[in-house]
Amino acid sequence: MTTQLTELFESNRQWAARTEAQEPGFFSKLLEQQTPQYLWIGCADSRVPANELVGLLPGELFVHRNVANVVAHSDLNALSVIQFAVDGLKVQHIIVVGHSNCGGVKAALNDMRLGLVDNWLRHVKDVRHQHQALLEQIPPERRVDALCELNVLEQARNVCTTTVVLDAWARGQEIVVHGWVYGLHNGLLDDLKMTARAAEDVDAAYAQALRGIRQRYVAD
Ligand SMILES: [Zn+2]
Repeated sequence: MTTQLTELFESNRQWAARTEAQEPGFFSKLLEQQTPQYLWIGCADSRVPANELVGLLPGELFVHRNVANVVAHSDLNALSVIQFAVDGLKVQHIIVVGHSNCGGVKAALNDMRLGLVDNWLRHVKDVRHQHQALLEQIPPERRVDALCELNVLEQARNVCTTTVVLDAWARGQEIVVHGWVYGLHNGLLDDLKMTARAAEDVDAAYAQALRGIRQRYVAD
């Protein structure tokens, strides 16, 4: 086994040279400031690389990732990211992005014991229990993906109800919160229509997105 990871340094040098060749001055420009318009809150899963799948360059996307894209109200890490994105960077969009077949969501759904992460996934289990009646109407093989989407809805609503976002909306700052899901099987993003531009939008957006999930997953 290699200890130096020389292949990663080599590929980094090639990437930096290629980037600079395509746009001379790229890195020196970034040195001055970052002005991303988007905050991406996604899963830590290695198959969901935020910048790559929306084709954005360094400097264009502010990113926070954790297992199962959770936004917990007591998580100082996520809250600090949101606060800096909103108050410091003045991002216009905060996007919570879940993905199909998420391992964290699957563990929460099936009561799998994985270790310390079980405590973190307790947040997703809360989502599961909240939507237990709906989940029971969904065929078992589709429940993981349904819970992935329900989790996005809840975490996007959690973003909307942070003091940071509520205060920003109250002073008239334009921020749109979104809930999306990424398909591991086809590489495509879907908008769950959990879209809120003001505190008054949140309940209606949540209800609309929930109706959408019910329509997609529950047979009439
Ligand atoms: Zn995941």
